[in-house]
Amino acid sequence: MMAVRTPGRHHPSLFMRPHWCAVRHVGIDKCQRANMFKWIFNKTRSAWFPSKLVAIFAGVDRRIHCQKETLERCMPQNVFQDAVSRIDRFSRDAGIDEEVIDRLRRPHALLSASLPVRMDDGSTKYFQGYRCRYSDVLGPTKGGIRYHPGVTADEVQALALWMTIKCALVGLHYGGAKGGVVVDPKSLSRLEVERLSRAYVRAMADFIGPDTDIPAPDVYTNARIMGWMADEYQTIKRVSAPSMITGKPIQLGGSLGREEATGRGAYLVIREYAKREEWVPHNTRVALQGFGNAGYHVSRLLARDGYKIVAISDSKGGIYDDAGFDVEDIFAKKQATLGLGDIYCDCSVCDVAGRPITNDELLALDVDLLIPAALQRVINPRNVDQVRARSIAEVANGPVEGGVDDQLRRHKITVLPDVLVNAGGVIVSYFEWVQNRQGYSWTLDEVRERLKQLIVTAFNDVWTLHSGEGLTLRDAAYVTALRRIAEAIEAQGSRAYFNPSK
Ligand code: NAD
Repeated sequence: MMAVRTPGRHHPSLFMRPHWCAVRHVGIDKCQRANMFKWIFNKTRSAWFPSKLVAIFAGVDRRIHCQKETLERCMPQNVFQDAVSRIDRFSRDAGIDEEVIDRLRRPHALLSASLPVRMDDGSTKYFQGYRCRYSDVLGPTKGGIRYHPGVTADEVQALALWMTIKCALVGLHYGGAKGGVVVDPKSLSRLEVERLSRAYVRAMADFIGPDTDIPAPDVYTNARIMGWMADEYQTIKRVSAPSMITGKPIQLGGSLGREEATGRGAYLVIREYAKREEWVPHNTRVALQGFGNAGYHVSRLLARDGYKIVAISDSKGGIYDDAGFDVEDIFAKKQATLGLGDIYCDCSVCDVAGRPITNDELLALDVDLLIPAALQRVINPRNVDQVRARSIAEVANGPVEGGVDDQLRRHKITVLPDVLVNAGGVIVSYFEWVQNRQGYSWTLDEVRERLKQLIVTAFNDVWTLHSGEGLTLRDAAYVTALRRIAEAIEAQGSRAYFNPSK
């Protein structure tokens, strides 16, 4: 485990503020290079001479805080910078105190750990694990754990920042957090996944806990993994503490309705939006990217109301049918074959009408509603001009890259933002935590009803600001959340309180 240090309430030897830009994202892909030249061109077209160029590169360097000269240059558009740049402008445009924005520009703490796992062949492999507690201004921190080969510290910090905004937006007394392990879980046996999950908790046991930081499932983690993690934590601490993690199996203290919560919350938000836009479900065409937990439930509920789900994809590819799919049927087949790839018409098991399409084609479909429900930044400068959907509901976290918000607005594409659309997951996670602490279980109807109350209230708050102040829905959601965080910071005393003359 790395020795780390951070200000605040924690043991000083355990944590550190990361050299986040120093340890990764050293490669510059084509798109970033194109962006960089576009940016330089815009800055310098009036006066193109070398000294200006040098000054610009110096500015880029300062912005990304690279601390070690020997390291390769990193670009500002990594996913964490992208997330921070989204909140940066609110101090200017929405009157949020600069002190609040400044506090949210960096995480409270990031723990990075090497996780040793005994593999089935007897060898030991080391996996990189992260946990970021972004802000605990509103309460203990909360956020999922992701298993994916693409996990980076930047990604974990970005996701933790979004969790901070999300919890504030829906009125939970939680701060934001996130965790991840760099691994392709599909390459591991079940026993190896269990050992990895327990190793993660052993490394993080002093960082997480029912009153400090409460994990949950995310991409490629599920209820069973949460159950193993709860067991490992309780073994280490020698206590019964089911509220240390949410998304557990029902038999181990999980909440009814947690499994479907993210998809149901997204469905409720889309339904509220559809009422405002007077959509007729049977005439509304939907394309879904990412047929996992969240994607399945939102598409199932929309299809039940009559929406036409014309395209569905997962990591192996997608399928398209103009007449709309029977979502439950596709789900049953995917369960049987473990991949939409096997449902393609050129494969043996195919008895589903429709044709195969790629994920790129799916994102460019002419539909009323596009639902990205897989990973972040799938709509980016490379493909934004191809997007023809009228609206986008961000079920995934951060599927639209920060830099393309303006282009979507210019193309009159409405974005229902992730911090609202997928907040159902954390809301029902909060309910699970409350039930565990009460030692009392709620019925499924109670859970669904309370979820509806919270998420529809959040939608109405956002809609009121959107209509009243002419903000985009994303900006309205961020401003609502930032104002709540600002009030909490102000309650502790901010610059305005301690130095009223300034
Ligand atoms: P999941 O692992 O159940 O499903 C992810 C799905 O995405 C899988 O079907 C996978 O095949 C697919 N996928 C992966 N890479 C893809 C690609 N390149 N193109 C198309 N599909 C691809 O995960 P989930 O829990 O449904 O989470 C999905 C998204 O929703 C993530 O961004 C997650 O952060 C977000 N989210 C989930 C929850 C939750 O409670 N599950 C809560 C809030 C946000």
